[in-house]
Amino acid sequence: MTHDSTLQDGDFLFENESDAGSQPDKRVVWRVLLVDDDPDVHHTTVFAVGQRHLVGRPIEFLHAYSAAHAREMLLTEKDLAIVLLDVVMESDTAGLDLVAYIRQIANLSNTRIVLRTGQPGYAPELDTILKHDINDYKTKSELSQLKLLTLLTTTLRSYQQLCAIDANKQGLSLIVRASGSFMQMQGLGDFAVGVITQLAALLGTHPQGVVCAQTQRQSNSYSVLAAAGRYAAHINEPLESLSNPAIRQRLIEAFDNCNSSFGSHDLVLYFGQKSGLDMAVYIDVGHVPGPVETELLNVFCANLSACLHNQSLIEQLRSTAFVDELLQLPNRSHFIAEIDARQTAQVRQWSMALVDIDDYSSINELMGHHYGDELLKALAIRLQTSVGPDIMLARVSGNAFGLLGPDQHINPESIILATSTPLMVENRPHKITATSSFVAIGEDLHSGADHLKNATVALKQAKRLRRGSYVVYTADIESEARNRAVLLAELHIAFDRQHLCLEYQPQIDLGSGRLIGLEALMRWRREDGQMVSPDRFIPVAEQSGLIVAMGEWALNQACALMKQLMDNGMAPERIAVNVSVEQFKSPGFFDAVMSALERADLDGSRLELEITESVAMLGSEHVKAQLSRLREHRIAIAIDDFGTGYSSLSYLEQLPLDRMKIDKAFVRQLGQPGSPRIAEMIVKLGRTLGLKVLAEGIEDRSAWDALQAMGCQEGQGYFISRPLESAKVRPWIQAYFASQEVPPRAYS
Ligand code: C2E
Ligand code: CA
Ligand code: CA
Repeated sequence: MTHDSTLQDGDFLFENESDAGSQPDKRVVWRVLLVDDDPDVHHTTVFAVGQRHLVGRPIEFLHAYSAAHAREMLLTEKDLAIVLLDVVMESDTAGLDLVAYIRQIANLSNTRIVLRTGQPGYAPELDTILKHDINDYKTKSELSQLKLLTLLTTTLRSYQQLCAIDANKQGLSLIVRASGSFMQMQGLGDFAVGVITQLAALLGTHPQGVVCAQTQRQSNSYSVLAAAGRYAAHINEPLESLSNPAIRQRLIEAFDNCNSSFGSHDLVLYFGQKSGLDMAVYIDVGHVPGPVETELLNVFCANLSACLHNQSLIEQLRSTAFVDELLQLPNRSHFIAEIDARQTAQVRQWSMALVDIDDYSSINELMGHHYGDELLKALAIRLQTSVGPDIMLARVSGNAFGLLGPDQHINPESIILATSTPLMVENRPHKITATSSFVAIGEDLHSGADHLKNATVALKQAKRLRRGSYVVYTADIESEARNRAVLLAELHIAFDRQHLCLEYQPQIDLGSGRLIGLEALMRWRREDGQMVSPDRFIPVAEQSGLIVAMGEWALNQACALMKQLMDNGMAPERIAVNVSVEQFKSPGFFDAVMSALERADLDGSRLELEITESVAMLGSEHVKAQLSRLREHRIAIAIDDFGTGYSSLSYLEQLPLDRMKIDKAFVRQLGQPGSPRIAEMIVKLGRTLGLKVLAEGIEDRSAWDALQAMGCQEGQGYFISRPLESAKVRPWIQAYFASQEVPPRAYS
């Protein structure tokens, strides 16, 4: 071996060997293990290489003077690029044995092996070279300084490539794994933390950096979503708060130019989306990323952009799944999940409430959907103000809100307070009433969905009993609801099997005794012969919508009877049929009335429809129009149970009505001394409005007399006749006419 340290071309050659693009890294060296029992060889090799950089780095030699010594070092030393190995040491095969050891025991597959021997005769067999992946075999005399340096250079290159392939493989698998974990992350914050961790793993450094993202889509403000290492304090702060101006600037540039940039010891990666959230990472790497790392980082960024896109889709989905779009409040699912969480935490003295705006659908119909939306917003603000900011307010259905919190905040008073003064909707005051229900949380094992169901059951009861009131859920309510469900099922069957029938109650002129009408009243006799009161089954039918079909049936029946009576020359002026709100609101109502008249060949003037105040309270132009249309066909309209509802008189005045019916409750009061004379007021009111007034529930002579005295012209009641089965109507009329002193006026 020649020791020519003045080889200028060699220096030149190797100085150009540094990797294109990247500067030599002073801190990183190539580690070469020299194994030779001749100390001289160690010296000359070290001397030949000198301070040169090969493939961008200086060489650090490690020295072993025997195969045994080498074995120890092979197990402990890291990152050995090359083993320069003497073939003959302790024994003739010591070197070759060591080759097997390097590959099989020390498990170093990337480390390159170069064999050197004093004599050509000790050359290993070709298959040994192949089997153990030996890079080169040289006789020591061949190795001039130039040749040694060339040999080391090419060998280092192949080591570097092997490592790159390895890193690539590991990096890619890291990226694949990272994508998997990104997809499982809950929210952008987690995602951002993941980015730093995964990047650090990929670059083999400690996590040290920040992730910034837009605080809002298409906005110009950015904040720190995640931060690690010495930047940790900046989490959740605006980008501007980063103390290092250079880092701040680099991140801003990344956002402005939508690209990544690599510094001498750090990098900024940009992974934004055209239409979505922008995100950029600044990370301290501590070294310049080599070509492999750069390649991997590109893959990582592309992959991350895709993940980020998915992530923001997931966020969007999650938010649509849990947030009410219109009010930006938690929605039903969120509310249920929240109750579940309270149940799990076994909270004590917590409640939930449902608050339902009365007649919301008619407000929507009357004032338009935009108005309806604004009203919801106004009420949401009212409710939250009334119960306090710590109480969860959710929108659980179209017009119902859910409240969840400690008992002292969830109570009827705070809800009444919220609706006691008119809301401001589109700059106008709008008074609403709301019905609510309350359920205690945490005292049983019910799920959130069960609680909400119970609250709904209680709410329905409250609505049924009295709108604008509230009901606290109890187990009784639940059993009551169950009974109603059973009753409804039975009613369906009874209706299908035509087990329903009508009875007719005469209505007369109190002065002349003239028969003016018959009111059709529905009856249900069970198969066991028991009667079910209409006060029980009508509300159930109303609630389920079955009333629409039942009402239509009643109209047909009543009109047919009326026709029969006319044919027999014993018809009263008209027949009155009750109409429920649900029926009145149903789209086919008008046509159903017309077809009943047509089928019976009856003129509209022989029919009266009894609507309740709740129909009047629907309060829309639609009601007025519908009533006018009916009256155009000469159908009379009576307002039933007057005085029990809450209709506004001014509104009532505008409705095209013919008759007012005084509820029997007020007629009953007539006999009681000192009770309010509501009947009298109603009579006066009717007269003022130009309406006829009919009193129902006349049970004795005194009521009759009292009513007549106050100017009430018409009445019905047990004192006149109980409701009559249809077969008994004709005999009753015959007998009635006969009993009248004045010969009855027959209508035909
Ligand atoms: P309503 O329309 O107020 O009917 C009058 C109720 O008073 C009837 O009760 C009738 O039998 C009862 N009544 C009549 N005279 C007297 C009396 O002197 N004393 C007392 N205590 N009660 C008297 P009914 O038949 O039990 O019907 C109850 C309610 O069911 C009706 O009240 C009405 O709201 C509803 N209903 C009955 N039939 C129908 C129908 O075909 N369609 C609809 N939608 N509702 C109906
Ligand atoms: Ca009635
Ligand atoms: Ca009535």
